[in-house]
Amino acid sequence: MQTVTIIGGGLAGCEAAWQAASRGVPVRLHEMRPVRPTLVHQSDQLAELVCSNSFRGDKLDNAVGVLKEEMRRLGSLIIRCADQTRVPAGAALAVDRARFAAAVTAAITTHPLIDVVREEVSGIPAPGTTAGPVILATGPLTSDTLSEDIARFVGADHLSFYDAISPIVLADSIDRSIVFRASRWGRSLRAEHTEPEAAGPACGVDDGEGDYLNCPMDEEEYRAFYEALISAESATVHDFDAAQFFEGCLPIEVMAHRGRETLRFGPMKPVGLPDPRTGRIPFAVVQLRQDTLAGDHFSLVGFQTQLKWGEQARVLRMIPGLRDAEFVRFGMVHRNTYINGPTILRPTWQTRTRPDLFFAGQVSGVEGYVESAASGLLAGINAAHQARGLPLQEAPRESAIGALAYYVSHAEAKHYQPSNITFGIMPPLAEPPPRHGRGRQGPSKKEQRKEALAQRALAALEAWRADLPVAAPGAGA
Ligand SMILES: Cc1cc2nc3c(=O)[nH]c(=O)nc-3n(C[C@H](O)[C@H](O)[C@H](O)COP(=O)(O)OP(=O)(O)OC[C@H]3O[C@@H](n4cnc5c(N)ncnc54)[C@H](O)[C@@H]3O)c2cc1C
Repeated sequence: MQTVTIIGGGLAGCEAAWQAASRGVPVRLHEMRPVRPTLVHQSDQLAELVCSNSFRGDKLDNAVGVLKEEMRRLGSLIIRCADQTRVPAGAALAVDRARFAAAVTAAITTHPLIDVVREEVSGIPAPGTTAGPVILATGPLTSDTLSEDIARFVGADHLSFYDAISPIVLADSIDRSIVFRASRWGRSLRAEHTEPEAAGPACGVDDGEGDYLNCPMDEEEYRAFYEALISAESATVHDFDAAQFFEGCLPIEVMAHRGRETLRFGPMKPVGLPDPRTGRIPFAVVQLRQDTLAGDHFSLVGFQTQLKWGEQARVLRMIPGLRDAEFVRFGMVHRNTYINGPTILRPTWQTRTRPDLFFAGQVSGVEGYVESAASGLLAGINAAHQARGLPLQEAPRESAIGALAYYVSHAEAKHYQPSNITFGIMPPLAEPPPRHGRGRQGPSKKEQRKEALAQRALAALEAWRADLPVAAPGAGA
């Protein structure tokens, strides 16, 4: 029997190890702590939560709740330990972090098929040097030498060391009576040539290749927004080097501090964007770009920020058209090592060029504790199948776990950013839910849609799960 080699004993690595071992496949799990610490982890425990103690919503009315329910049904170790160590947190699943990490560590280190090796792995094991598949799950703080080797494997252009994320808002919450749809200089979707003046920095302004929603500002609105932005409170910097920003990806508040007009020459540049209702160029413009897979989400172009989340909501709702904006995700800037999933991965979490090599967790291009564990779960099942000579599995796209795998392997590569699970990355319903005689108390259309997506996801997951091969004889858990 082959052995699965897993590098990284975090949420993804532990879940992958558990899934493989539960299928009767021996696992060798390499974790570098405590021999080599990271600048964020504080203990030698496996699956240490580096920041919040929350696994977010636990109800089926939100996508991460559906993902957790699917993981429970698939025998997730991470969710089982989270359920066992939960603390009161309303509709969310939050845990006692020390008890949680201790529970995962105990389960992994006492499993007869899992061998934990405390050492740093400094390169991707070459083909044929391990006795089976390899899963790389070294997280956002992957050690430097291994990162260099990953960059060699995927190509330096396909490995990011930093996340500078712009906020994302729900399409439904944008006021269409105020914003107008246009690309700079009237260029439409997928124009062949990029307008040099509009090209802007890497994470910055309209690149002339998409259709944008534009929020026009007059001078008074701009001045008020500017004052609110420079006086808003920034989040505590978690990370040691988060203050060193790439010049092309500066947080908007840092740009604003450089001068009153800086934003008007950067992400809020209005040139080439006449408002069709007045025929005039607005004083400033905030552009919103549609996410190609999640059509009901729009990100604020070039608005990466580290303002506190409450402050982001307050200040960004001053933008015309965003007064009632619902934020799917707030902006942030932090250290994050991750590959460009759509270029590198298949939905099985294998790499496209080396089928015995899998990525899982944050380094694979997902975002969040639950998503990291979910990717480890599928990578673990598939590595175990490969070790046993069984066919590899793609989870159904309608399920939350399958939608996440599809997003990471198929989203648009050029603007790729790690994503949390959301209903927006699941395929739309074939038919919108029927309006049943809704009184004031009845569910809204949005609630009915979420419920229908959740029920469809669980049904698809069940059908798929029923066909999964059973564990090898004698697999102990
Ligand atoms: C500062 C910070 C705060 C975050 N806060 C949150 C949050 O509040 N909520 C949330 O949902 N997500 C958060 N995330 C994102 C993400 O969900 C977590 O980082 C999560 O722990 C990722 O799980 P993982 O298994 O991919 O990586 P990790 O849990 O980090 O596990 C990776 C493991 O690999 C080990 N390792 C690294 N390099 C090597 C090597 N060369 N050899 C052997 N072992 C190695 C590390 O020591 C680590 O134990 C945060 C990320 C960061 C960086």
